[in-house]
Amino acid sequence: MSRIAYVNGQYVPHKDAAVHVEDRGYQFADGVYEVCEVWRNTIVDMPRHIDRLDRSLRELSIGWPMARAALEFVLREVVRRNRVHDGIVYIQVTRGVSRRDHFFPGEDVVPSIVVTARATSPRAGDSAAEKGISVITYPENRWPRVDIKTVALLPNVLAKQAAKEQGSKEAWYFDSKNNVTEGGSTNAWIVTKDGTLVTRPAESGILRGITRAVVLDLVEREGISFEERPFSVEEAKEAREAFVTAASTLVMPVVKIDDTILGNGHPGSVATRLRELFHTATDFLAV
Ligand code: PLP
Repeated sequence: MSRIAYVNGQYVPHKDAAVHVEDRGYQFADGVYEVCEVWRNTIVDMPRHIDRLDRSLRELSIGWPMARAALEFVLREVVRRNRVHDGIVYIQVTRGVSRRDHFFPGEDVVPSIVVTARATSPRAGDSAAEKGISVITYPENRWPRVDIKTVALLPNVLAKQAAKEQGSKEAWYFDSKNNVTEGGSTNAWIVTKDGTLVTRPAESGILRGITRAVVLDLVEREGISFEERPFSVEEAKEAREAFVTAASTLVMPVVKIDDTILGNGHPGSVATRLRELFHTATDFLAV
């Protein structure tokens, strides 16, 4: 079966899907994106992702490419046409196509939109979670507006590539105070020696993850001891357990930070439980 992408109003074969050379996303990274999990034919937390897309667009004064209901339809349609049972759906909106010039283009320029979807193997995710992943620490190299989910991901690409070259799956950024901010494409969590779950507040330095929000709902529901506060690289290395969250990885245990093995080197009980319970706390709509 051939893959289908949605590009500016049309469903096209994925292999032919293209944007104009003067798309501002291509030339200036002048655009934003979202990644939603698809789970059992449903788009998980679609309303929360679209709310965050709306916020990212507003922060950058980029217009909506279509009505919200139309976007919801397109997301479901791309998932359906690609027969994605489990996987991800990707949405990218840029400021549109215009002669290359740093200034915003005129009102006549419409935003560009691309939606793609692909299947992933839930079993592969679960078997990675059974082992846990390792992360490296990496000095913060991004602009301060990391709360906006822009496609300007070159710093994240460099951090994650450095992780890969050291045999790790993720890079945990640390700021000038040596506090962990977040991963290159995930939010970061630890469980301290006394069993308290800790994650950094989303007011600054991180993207307010949708998966993070679902986990916070779960933490409240399950009565897990929790503190929202910055934590340092040293504290993380002394933690009982750690994990990362993102729509594409859900709750993924971390068993090693740089050369430090956490706890007994196996995924911790809090991460494992939150992963198991995750879909009991998500909002999703049928495709
Ligand atoms: N932080 C960064 C930098 C990300 O790129 C992502 C996801 O792509 C996240 C956190 C997690 O966000 P979410 O849970 O909404 O996928």
